[in-house]
Amino acid sequence: MRWGSLLGRWIPWLLAWALLMLALGALLVRWDIAQRREAFAADARAAHRLLLQRAAQLDATLAALVLLPVSAREPEQRLVAFYPELIAVQRRSGDATWDESALAAAEARSRAAGHASIAALDDRALDVVRAGTPDSVALRIDPARLLPWAVWPASLAPGGPVRVSLAHEGRSVLLQPGAADPPAGWTQGFVFDKALDLPGWSLGLQLRRATGPAEWPWMALAALSLTLALVLGTAAWWRHNRRLRQRAEELLRVGRVARLNALGEMAGGIAHELNQPLTAVMANVQAARRLLDDGDDEPQARAQAREAVQQAAAQARRAADVVARLRQRIDSPDAGLAVQAVDLAATCAQVLELLDPALRERAIAVRMQGQAPRVRADAVALEQIVHNLVGNAMQALQEVPAAERQLVLALEAQGARATLAVRDNGPGIAAELWPRLFEPFVTTRSKGDGLGLGLSLCRSLAQSMGGSLDAQPLRPRGVEFRLVLPVADSPTA
Ligand code: ADP
Repeated sequence: MRWGSLLGRWIPWLLAWALLMLALGALLVRWDIAQRREAFAADARAAHRLLLQRAAQLDATLAALVLLPVSAREPEQRLVAFYPELIAVQRRSGDATWDESALAAAEARSRAAGHASIAALDDRALDVVRAGTPDSVALRIDPARLLPWAVWPASLAPGGPVRVSLAHEGRSVLLQPGAADPPAGWTQGFVFDKALDLPGWSLGLQLRRATGPAEWPWMALAALSLTLALVLGTAAWWRHNRRLRQRAEELLRVGRVARLNALGEMAGGIAHELNQPLTAVMANVQAARRLLDDGDDEPQARAQAREAVQQAAAQARRAADVVARLRQRIDSPDAGLAVQAVDLAATCAQVLELLDPALRERAIAVRMQGQAPRVRADAVALEQIVHNLVGNAMQALQEVPAAERQLVLALEAQGARATLAVRDNGPGIAAELWPRLFEPFVTTRSKGDGLGLGLSLCRSLAQSMGGSLDAQPLRPRGVEFRLVLPVADSPTA
């Protein structure tokens, strides 16, 4: 039961933690992905610019070779040694034909367009042709060496996670495989596709980077979850403590007010109001004794003594009046009651909630049953009555084995009246106590534990709200207290 309630108390906080963690975690992951996407895009743009520069350089070289006179062929072959990405330089002049038909077609395209044209791209070679008169020139370039790896952004470097390809007319050549096999369709990941903006060089740079949970900022997420747990844990602990404090204050208010007020008023009243007549009684009695002791049988002295005794009697009557008045005040504590429509079931639930720790500590099984409409009552007085009855039952149940302790709060409604029955299966009430049960100062508790005012106050309060409070024994054992109150919305109430 303790574990159950402990869990019940923490479950809302755990839920709050999980929800907050989900929301903030998602935000953090999204932010992190956006950051990495931005960095990837910046590096990709830089890589594209570098590739464009390299292609422009080759394009200029090709244009220069076309213009070179035939006699200058030798430096042309030396170019191959100079540019590592160049595999070969070919030249066609006059009626000679190219070895490959693709070169011829590219030459025709180049002649029509007036700039270089790509003949073919595959794993091993990229062929670019430039038509000229009398000679046309073709460059065979190694695609793997075309990219300027030395000055290439580090994040896209070989061996890294980014897949790099060159594309030409729907074909693409893989230059670098990237870290892992990318998921099908590249749904998750960063993509960069951009053609080279150089006439005739119909090449595109394709960069792909797969990304997934493995790259999420797990350390930051762990730190976030820990911080959230700490913050929520502190809040939960603070709230729990505050509730405990409030409960203690409430208990004090509801449980003690009636008794302490009565006790305090009584003590103050007795001290103040009895002091004067008792002092006068003393003084008069002493005066009378002196007069009689003097043995003076003078009629005057006897008259004086009689007078003193009469005075003492009058003062004693005053003292008795004071006591009677105090008693009356205890019997009718209804001054200032504010009667209104009150939810009886809610009041019971409130009192049980207030006493919950004590009830659990004593392993008392509590049951609330039945229903009742709202009653006409003073909310505070009603709370005090229920609290008193439940408190008495709890004390009675202490007397029986823990496993048997049962407390029932049953609500009923009959016509214009609603009843709350508080039943316990404690030891019950001794036969000689029954006739005086509701009288003030009747108690079986040892000194200091009870004043015996609770039930008399409760009955007075119930009666002043137009109701009643009675008790009857239960079989096989225990007591039932029945609080009857008028129903609030009934026309006869
Ligand atoms: P107090 O609790 O201060 O003694 P009360 O007027 O509330 O004053 O109760 C008077 C006496 O009635 C108690 O001392 C107790 O002996 C008896 N009593 C009240 N309620 C119960 C109960 N549910 N079971 C057994 N005895 C009870």
